Amino acid sequence: MCRIIRILDALESQYHNEECPPELGHDEPLDGLILTILSQNTNDINRDRAFSRLKAEFPAWPDVVHAGASRLEDAIRTAGLAHTKAGRILTILGRVYSDFGEYSIRGLAAHGRDYIREYLRALPGVGAKTVACTLLFDFKIPAFPVDTHITRISRRTGIAGGKASPEEISRMLEGVVPETRCLGGHVNMIAHGRVVCHPQKPECLACVLSEICCYRRNNDA
Ligand code: SF4
Repeated sequence: MCRIIRILDALESQYHNEECPPELGHDEPLDGLILTILSQNTNDINRDRAFSRLKAEFPAWPDVVHAGASRLEDAIRTAGLAHTKAGRILTILGRVYSDFGEYSIRGLAAHGRDYIREYLRALPGVGAKTVACTLLFDFKIPAFPVDTHITRISRRTGIAGGKASPEEISRMLEGVVPETRCLGGHVNMIAHGRVVCHPQKPECLACVLSEICCYRRNNDA
């Protein structure tokens, strides 16, 4: 059996499985896109605090536009890089309104994955991971975002080369992982990277991937 599928199976035995993937999306994909921009270079707690405060102060996206950069910066400060992120958010909101006549990107769904990917990539501060997150969580379109945990696990287990970039790993996983398993696989690999496959001193003896993992075999950890 393909090593990637064995990894997904093993992680599903520990975390979420295919029948019960986590609920992580937003009714309006623009919300998910902005949340993902806030998540850049910070942790989930600070991201969520910033997004909650943003929504509490400005419940609708036109409110953000009318408030302007300085008040937006204050609202999202806990996410860090507030000046940069506020500028990007305002530019994105302006572009979306200009393209769709409303603060919504729901209409993109009709065009399919490649078109959505291309549209989102053209927005400021939106990289491959942000696009994949928005596709997967908010448009419910299969994609495989790759963060630092998934990169580390992919390299260590040997499903990716030791120098493979997150974008290369994402493309590889999207080509192999069944569509219904992308969401659970993404979330489970991150969970595993946080609790077992640490950057330093991975807990290989307690790991469900130890039989499959190249790092474990090579280091006899
Ligand atoms: S066996 Fe060790 S290195 Fe391999 S995935 Fe598990 S914790 Fe990470």
